Amino acid sequence: MSRTHTGVPAGRVDTGVSRPPRIAMLGGTFDPVHLGHLRSAVELHECLMLDRVHMVPASMPPLRDEPSVPPEERLTLLRLGIGQTPGLMADARELERDGPSYSADTLASLRDEYGAEARLVMVLGHDAFLRLADWRTPERLFELAHLVVIDRPDHDAPLPAALLELIGQREVDCDESLFQEPAGRLLRLALPTQMAISATEVRRRLATGSSIRYLLPEAVEARIDKRALYRRH
Ligand code: ATP
Repeated sequence: MSRTHTGVPAGRVDTGVSRPPRIAMLGGTFDPVHLGHLRSAVELHECLMLDRVHMVPASMPPLRDEPSVPPEERLTLLRLGIGQTPGLMADARELERDGPSYSADTLASLRDEYGAEARLVMVLGHDAFLRLADWRTPERLFELAHLVVIDRPDHDAPLPAALLELIGQREVDCDESLFQEPAGRLLRLALPTQMAISATEVRRRLATGSSIRYLLPEAVEARIDKRALYRRH
């Protein structure tokens, strides 16, 4: 039997009920992972009754500067942050590809793994959603998956015209409508706990020697300390 990038049998998920699996991908730079990412992933898992949330660090994010910490280290921090959290997994598949980390390629690989009937969801914070029309072949994302956009404090700018055009008539207002199809729809969600935490602020605090306690899991903080990551050299 083939194994996945996460070490579990390919395409197998025991949903406990007879419905297609519900799988989410939450991609990001995770430079470093923080509680805004992790709490959102847990609440998505609960609210949408997902079977798995794949948290996928980008090896080379296409639309931003190269992260200061290499992908393997960001993956290690992510694994430490997730620990044994049910339903969440750190997924290394973008580290195994050369070149820029395009989400459409990642979704295509998840689609291959879980099959045509799986309900595949790409999750984005509102800030990332605002830039979606600038991505490479954004229409392809909707062929492969649904989009779920989560509200994020301090990020409430209106949608640009190109994005509105891309969305067209795809938006639905509840998860039942979303999961009627395997892909192609958009749901905007306000999760119960919204955290104004960003990796930029975590990095800024580390560079200036300020505390990051309670912004990310203790195990992540301990490794950052031990390896003196994100310090100003
Ligand atoms: P940076 O500050 O370096 O841009 P970030 O904190 O936005 O980083 P990313 O790794 O770029 O983190 O984010 C990955 C995904 O998680 C994006 O879709 C982003 O919108 C979302 N996200 C990040 N932080 C939060 C948060 N506090 N609440 C909800 N979603 C978030």
